[in-house]
Amino acid sequence: MTQIIDGKKISAEIKDELKEQAAAYRDRGKEICLAVIQVGDDPASCVYVRNKKKACEYIGIRSLSYELPGETTEAELLSLVGELNARADVNGILVQLPLPEQINEEKVLNAISPLKDVDGFHPMNVGALCIGKKGFVSCTPAGVIQLLKRSGISISGKECVVVGRSNIVGKPMSLLLLRENGTVTVAHSRTADLKEVTRRADILVVAVGKPRMITADYVKEGAVVVDVGIHRDENNKLCGDVDYASVSPHCSAITPVPGGVGPMTIAMLMKNCVESILLQETYTDEADCP
Ligand code: NDP
Repeated sequence: MTQIIDGKKISAEIKDELKEQAAAYRDRGKEICLAVIQVGDDPASCVYVRNKKKACEYIGIRSLSYELPGETTEAELLSLVGELNARADVNGILVQLPLPEQINEEKVLNAISPLKDVDGFHPMNVGALCIGKKGFVSCTPAGVIQLLKRSGISISGKECVVVGRSNIVGKPMSLLLLRENGTVTVAHSRTADLKEVTRRADILVVAVGKPRMITADYVKEGAVVVDVGIHRDENNKLCGDVDYASVSPHCSAITPVPGGVGPMTIAMLMKNCVESILLQETYTDEADCP
């Protein structure tokens, strides 16, 4: 029987744990605060921002909302980020991507204090992950680790293959699996024989951005398959990078789309917000961090 990994249930559990932690901080007179900046009115971004604010409300995190017009300049946005970096009452800063084309995304993300970078995109946090230091970890790959652990799937000693090497999913995913003592291979668009590589995996994480690309012939019998992809198919139905119907009968466990990795991303963002207090208490000066 294939185990269906329930991201909805696991993310709800995590949010309930965070709610308790946030309440405990409040009892000690500390309110957690996340600043969310959106530039323009991209419809998908509006949905993501709304969901993030809803999650904050549920957990008891104060959210500050900055909805800036699409014509906002890079200098204006950098100035707001600078202000929020300096505010002691703001623990996390999130700039919703994508940004309009007149703004250099990298410059803005790098301007966020690494101590408030709850998305985990700042080079200092990425570097901290690389060398095993404390810091914020990119939310989606951190969510995958939680899904595996909370489903009773051990990573240590397993052959792990990650398909995709993006900075926000594939690369941090491979580092996290390595941190959990997996034996990790990263495959990408130049991998010579992808099927040969993916068929070695005990744990296969797919973040390729191609609807239903991974079919049963890419998967070893009994593997655990984690599908990070999210797409709308020709019938406007949500689907992942994995062809769920053909792959699931061959797996020991699999994440569905929707209801697998998706709900974990916001839960892990909230976890980063709650943990930001601890990081900020440990490293008061950005120069020491992490
Ligand atoms: P990117 O497009 O940035 O990266 C895709 C990666 O897949 C690249 O490294 C690319 O290789 C590799 N790739 C592309 N085609 C092939 C191929 N034919 N064979 C092997 N490798 C290939 O995507 P992201 O990492 O940002 O996202 C991946 C998926 O995850 C998307 O579907 C996205 O929507 C989803 N996603 C879901 C989230 C969630 O919360 N559930 C959050 C973030 C993303 P190369 O580097 O060589 O070009």
